[in-house]
Amino acid sequence: MAETKAEMLEEVSESAIPGMVKKLRESFRSGKTREKSFRIQQLKNLLRMLDEKEDEITEAGHRDLRKKKQDMVFNEFLNTKGEIIDAINNLDEWMKPEHVKKDLANIINTLCIQRDPLGVVCVFSAWNYPVVLLLQPLAGAIAAGNTVLLKPSDLAIHTSNVMMKLIPQYLDKDCYMVAGGGVPLCQAVLKERFDHIIYTGSSGVGKIIMRAAAEHLTPVTLELGGKNPCVVDSSANIKVAGKRIAWGKYVNCGQTCLAPDYILCNQSIRDELVTSIKTAVKQFYGENPKESKDYSRMINARQFDRVHALLDGSGNVVLGGKSESDRDDLYIAPTIITDVKPDDTIMQDEIFGPILPIICIDNIDDAIDLINDGEKPLSLCAFTSDKSVKEKLTTRTSSGAISFNDVIVHFAVRTLPFGGVGHSGQGAYHGKFTFDTFSHKKAYYSTFTGITEPLMKIRYPPFTDGNIKTGKKLLVPKVKEGSSFLTYILLTCLAVAVIAIVLQFQ
Ligand code: NAD
Repeated sequence: MAETKAEMLEEVSESAIPGMVKKLRESFRSGKTREKSFRIQQLKNLLRMLDEKEDEITEAGHRDLRKKKQDMVFNEFLNTKGEIIDAINNLDEWMKPEHVKKDLANIINTLCIQRDPLGVVCVFSAWNYPVVLLLQPLAGAIAAGNTVLLKPSDLAIHTSNVMMKLIPQYLDKDCYMVAGGGVPLCQAVLKERFDHIIYTGSSGVGKIIMRAAAEHLTPVTLELGGKNPCVVDSSANIKVAGKRIAWGKYVNCGQTCLAPDYILCNQSIRDELVTSIKTAVKQFYGENPKESKDYSRMINARQFDRVHALLDGSGNVVLGGKSESDRDDLYIAPTIITDVKPDDTIMQDEIFGPILPIICIDNIDDAIDLINDGEKPLSLCAFTSDKSVKEKLTTRTSSGAISFNDVIVHFAVRTLPFGGVGHSGQGAYHGKFTFDTFSHKKAYYSTFTGITEPLMKIRYPPFTDGNIKTGKKLLVPKVKEGSSFLTYILLTCLAVAVIAIVLQFQ
């Protein structure tokens, strides 16, 4: 199956990449992507593509991962469209200069942050959610006024092909290009100089991207993976927790960066939790998930073998397992393993497949220690109604995100930054954060040459003790005590008085 797929990937030739990037740079320099009306039109075109080509794109997703159309529309299209519409609706506001607080020395100056497009940006996306991970960054990059080179994952072959075909039909061909291809093509892309690279994928390749980007001092946003812990506390609603965990773990056959990787719970609630997860699996996928049209497949034989090998480890399989998998069909059943120990093989790396290990812990402090022993995760989730547990997990662990009583869904909240920390990534995007990721925050300062000049004499040589004294008063803020508003009013009056006096003596 994987071999047949590989033959079908449509690739851009490596030698074409320098010319493509050159063209993108020329287009950026022409200034057309800076125009607000152009950005809005391109975003609308992208939206139209998703509407008009929904069948073609979801068919490609089905061929790549056996994703059902409704699954893909719900988990990829809705978010992508939301992101595009959010950008269209808010672009005016986002592009406005952001005025900043002024100190006494700048009271009459204009100070603000101007969002500048960065230039030519490159988007590397992963195969597991091949539409949203490619088009969400694209939408933000367009909104911010950049030209874009898209590098879809070569493992989601059909989605890569459909993007190669459709993007030029809907977006400006000189400003937005797609480079389908495998690792050699990625290497050719990485030789080029970009103004920003956003990469979604494994931490291993993340290091390759960062190294290559360093050659050009190109800033990077890395959206990586890792082991996401899921704590279930005895105060939780176990029935709902089991259902939500089952959904988050087994959607897309466990190939979700935000999926709970493993569960930490107390022995006293473990069996009830296992029962509720099993009940949910049956409700979602029936008696035999292999027959379910709603259950996806592993992306390829390599990923199948990697995840399948994890079933050889220790622990006690209480759902699914090795006997229920089928390599020819790339099928691995929803699986739960209990009695797992922190140093078991399955606990060493991100699983990225439908296997859910459960580790029993005595208390929340043990859970926190175990979490902190590992790399910082992309997401930590916990099911609990205990405020002190929430407080401890929030303040004593570090992760890209923390969510209580649900899994994954914070991804869809556009007012929250989406990104990792440490080994799970750096930088963030979604909503306005994507716009900011692809914008340079240019400091804008404007003053006058007339009335301010007498005040400026304190900075000109010859330096005197008097200059230093005035400088200290004007430039060094006081430690806040009492009402800052009152102080601000008094200082403003003082500044106006000083300026008036200076002007009188000119
Ligand atoms: P992948 O193989 O699709 O690789 C991602 C991108 O890197 C692709 O565009 C690919 O063409 C490119 N690439 C692959 N090998 C390369 C190389 N040697 N040099 C340069 N570029 C190369 O995806 P993957 O790495 O298998 O993705 C799975 C990982 O991604 C998991 O760890 C998962 O948790 C993580 N992930 C993270 C997020 C997130 O938003 N944080 C989302 C999805 C997946």
